[in-house]
Amino acid sequence: MQINAGKKTGAMTEPQDAQARRAIQPVICYPNDTLPVPDLALYRGARMNAEKLDEIRAAPRDAASIEVPAGCFLRISSVEGSQVGDLNLFNSHDLSERFYSGKTRALHGTHVTTGDRLWSSFPTLRPMATIIEDTLNWYGMDEFGGSVHDVIGTRCDPYTGQVLQGVQYHHCCHSNLTRALADARNLPLAEAERHVHDVLNVFMCTGFTRDTGQYFMKASPVRPGDYLELFAEIDLLAVLSACPGGDCSSEHTSDTAACHPLLMEVFRPKAADLEGWSSPPVNGYDRSHGR
Ligand SMILES: [Zn+2]
Repeated sequence: MQINAGKKTGAMTEPQDAQARRAIQPVICYPNDTLPVPDLALYRGARMNAEKLDEIRAAPRDAASIEVPAGCFLRISSVEGSQVGDLNLFNSHDLSERFYSGKTRALHGTHVTTGDRLWSSFPTLRPMATIIEDTLNWYGMDEFGGSVHDVIGTRCDPYTGQVLQGVQYHHCCHSNLTRALADARNLPLAEAERHVHDVLNVFMCTGFTRDTGQYFMKASPVRPGDYLELFAEIDLLAVLSACPGGDCSSEHTSDTAACHPLLMEVFRPKAADLEGWSSPPVNGYDRSHGR
């Protein structure tokens, strides 16, 4: 309780130089100007003559998976109504290499958009995908500090619902992703669940309140026809849940919000149009860890 009480500002007497300490200018933790710059012009050029390979819809309050070969494009679209999606990405050949939302956040910020990369977990830490188009790119940062496509949330899950509300709810994104991954790789649910990870919150509008620092959500600005498009840097298995929160204007972990499907489409470009591109190698750290 002492620790929680200490979180409230004003619980401790300020030192005399409190204002001076607060006035220190922040520095960016990870200046990202040394990151390799993705060749968006090459990707977008290749996209122009790409042919559709496959598509699948994630039904409302459910998830679906699709394979996205390296060098192909994955478009996630809003259809029928405003809807948020929770995305997991895996190396299609090795589920232990998966999307790392925390490091993606550290490198690119709280929300991602065109030109940002989606990075994989340790020890591979490499770009899994590059965002080449984002029709919600106009939104920017609103007056509440909210923006779109966050890597600050986790994924809605039944365990938190149990803690906060004492309910058993089975169609949170965590469970939807678990079922879809189990089906995609013919795994028992308990094993599939271990691979489910913190997501890219596609189309979700979120931020942190300025006064209490709490995670907030608000109605997504997404409308049918909007999309986020990724270029697959490695062979990917993409799993997407149509969140039970719908547009996340009020609540999740229940069946009360209006929910809509989400569409995933895969496009394959002509090989000649990707000349000069190669799939990124795994991270170059030697993994000796000082021994
Ligand atoms: Zn969700």
